Amino acid sequence: MLLPGPETRDRVRETMAEAGHRVVFFPFPYHGHSSPVLRLASALHARGFAVTVFHTEFRAPDRADSPADYGWVSLPVEVPQEVVASEDIARLVTAMNAGCEEPFKDRLAALLAAEEGGGVRCVIADVIWYTAQAVARDLGVPALGIMTASAANFRLYMAFQTLIDKAYLPVQEAQKEDPVEELPPYRLKDFLRHDASSLAGFAELFRQIVDGARQSSGLIFNTLSTIEATNLDRIREDLSVPVFAVAALHKLAPQANASSNLYGETQADRHCLGWLDTQEPGSVLYVSFGSLAAMDPHEFAELAWGLAASKRPFLWVVRPKLIRGFQSGELPDGLEEEVRGRGMIVSWAPQVEVLAHPAVGAFFTHSGWNSTVEAILEGVPMICHPLDGDQYANARYVYHVWKVGVEVETAAAGQLQREEIKAAIENMVDDKEIRERINGFKIAAEEAIKAQTDLTALVDLIKSFETSKRHISSPRRSTSSEALL
Ligand code: UDP
Repeated sequence: MLLPGPETRDRVRETMAEAGHRVVFFPFPYHGHSSPVLRLASALHARGFAVTVFHTEFRAPDRADSPADYGWVSLPVEVPQEVVASEDIARLVTAMNAGCEEPFKDRLAALLAAEEGGGVRCVIADVIWYTAQAVARDLGVPALGIMTASAANFRLYMAFQTLIDKAYLPVQEAQKEDPVEELPPYRLKDFLRHDASSLAGFAELFRQIVDGARQSSGLIFNTLSTIEATNLDRIREDLSVPVFAVAALHKLAPQANASSNLYGETQADRHCLGWLDTQEPGSVLYVSFGSLAAMDPHEFAELAWGLAASKRPFLWVVRPKLIRGFQSGELPDGLEEEVRGRGMIVSWAPQVEVLAHPAVGAFFTHSGWNSTVEAILEGVPMICHPLDGDQYANARYVYHVWKVGVEVETAAAGQLQREEIKAAIENMVDDKEIRERINGFKIAAEEAIKAQTDLTALVDLIKSFETSKRHISSPRRSTSSEALL
């Protein structure tokens, strides 16, 4: 048992909350971003901190799995509809930052206006919310950034303008395989993106994010120092701020999002755990592409037939909207008969529990960062099929640096073919060295989790901050401070 029992925890929490130990969290409203932030909130809550979660009014997180004593504060962040509808991520994030500035200031000021500054010690916001961090600092509250993707990816943010200046970007078809000397182990194709953002838009966004992190009171990474020590050290040196690696928090505290997608889009289907109980140890392939990624209908059908051809049991998450342009996923004709008895499809899985199940032997993944870390923590080797964003870069670390997985080799412009899927599954299943290596990572992670070094250092840092007692004369809107606590 790593934690004190619930009664002791409650007593500690009451005393600490009275003494002004409140942390305000501001997650970015997408599952892969919010989930690690709420896990951190849960871990700090278990260490006795009072928690207030600020969130956008649109895409408010599901509170079902969070402790009843959390405060929840809704911010009316307005973003032009036309920007929301565009595929331009850089523009959307920039607009969300602009839209959150006033409401964030208003609500935080109201909280600080409460007795003893509402007990607020600091704000922990997704690094993407650079505007919110700046507002907190202006109000005299220490702000820490949390990077929910890898430390390697943060170094890409830091190097992005240089890569443009040196003409690495935009990526040219003929140079896709070229190594990036400034940022090993990447190759240029790892930086391909499929959204409508301009390079200049991303460069400016990343500049703001890095600038915010540089001015922060600390930078928290959803990663393990056992896998990213070098990248973390480089960031520590370059930014001169305290850096903490705090992945695996669901192992330390009750899981914040055990039963559903955080935005209520789907409930986890727990029947699959019972089905896994009936399967041979290490036999099942778990297939999931996270909370956002989409594939085209042809690719979906090829994947279905590739899984069928592997002749192995599989558990496949077919989320609503996984197939581009479709609300739900129709299986190709004849597939159901082909895989009867050895395939299970769910619309959302309790992934952390699935990966921890002894029946699961491999993970066919889009290489989202949370999924990658969760697989390493459970010692489940990966078959990587990245689809967008940082997933290519994460996959490179998995198969090239850590060598705990394989990539699906795609011949036709990145489009999956059933034979390639079958081959990747066979490569993975036959590779004993990969299994041994990932098991070594799992053991090292367990040691790090037991030690809790970075989480303890983070707790000490937060306790060292004074409770914010600044007097805020008149918040722009009169929000009841009671409700904010
Ligand atoms: N997840 C889950 N059930 C599913 C699919 C995903 O619980 O059926 C969780 C998964 O455990 C991970 C997150 O959703 O924590 C996905 O995050 P990731 O960074 O891997 O991908 P993203 O969704 O951001 O693309």
